[in-house]
Amino acid sequence: MVNDELIKRVSETIRSKGRVVAFSGAGISKESGVSTYREPGGLWDRFPEGSSGGILAVLANHPEQGREIFLSFLETIKQAKPNPGHLALVDLEKMGYLEAVVTQNVDNLHIEAGNSRVFELHGNLMRLKCLRCGQCRKYEREEFFTMMEGIVGTMERVTMEDIFSQLPECSCGGSSRLDFVGFGESVQQLDEARFQAQTCNVMLILGTSGVVYPAATVPAAAKSKGAFVIEINPNRTDLTAQADIFLQGQTGKILPRIVDSLK
Ligand SMILES: [Zn+2]
Repeated sequence: MVNDELIKRVSETIRSKGRVVAFSGAGISKESGVSTYREPGGLWDRFPEGSSGGILAVLANHPEQGREIFLSFLETIKQAKPNPGHLALVDLEKMGYLEAVVTQNVDNLHIEAGNSRVFELHGNLMRLKCLRCGQCRKYEREEFFTMMEGIVGTMERVTMEDIFSQLPECSCGGSSRLDFVGFGESVQQLDEARFQAQTCNVMLILGTSGVVYPAATVPAAAKSKGAFVIEINPNRTDLTAQADIFLQGQTGKILPRIVDSLK
């Protein structure tokens, strides 16, 4: 349990330094019910290639089970709603402290919560990108999942290429893909994310163990430019050594306390 004194120290640091950038990962989404798929019975437990290769690797190896796999991949993300941790970041932005969110999550929850500057290193699942002209189209949550279930529900064998081939075409006639970053693909918005990290005064590390590169270089970029680093995670991580303050617990419990203390 993080004591009130430490919360007060954090809020006073934020108040005096300002210009906060949040760096978030799977832990904050997990509190919204988004599975990491690693737990017993989860997708990566049943299909171990997923833990190193993600959904692309699982579908590539099991196209005959692809429909069931992809639908269960979608299911937890479909149900997710922003939690108190996401909403506290919106409060921090409205209060003028939070400059941007840099996230490794693809579930759109920071945007749905209401943060206005969100840099998504691993893309956004609910966005389609044209493979010819690069134009993107963003879908609302319900519209997106209804469309995907309609596409996958009628397919016999399902690989990611099969899914992409059934997505609506761009207005230029080009075919589309889901605009998330798979294992081995280049991250998105890394320059913007690093810029935010290098120019912030306080970096919040939220629900991430910082092991996925190059995303994990973002907190180091903040630290190297003298940012004060505050980590909130359920357990100590590889990033904890860089943190000026480590708060052990859930972001959904601790961030609202920081916001209350700033009010
Ligand atoms: Zn196009």
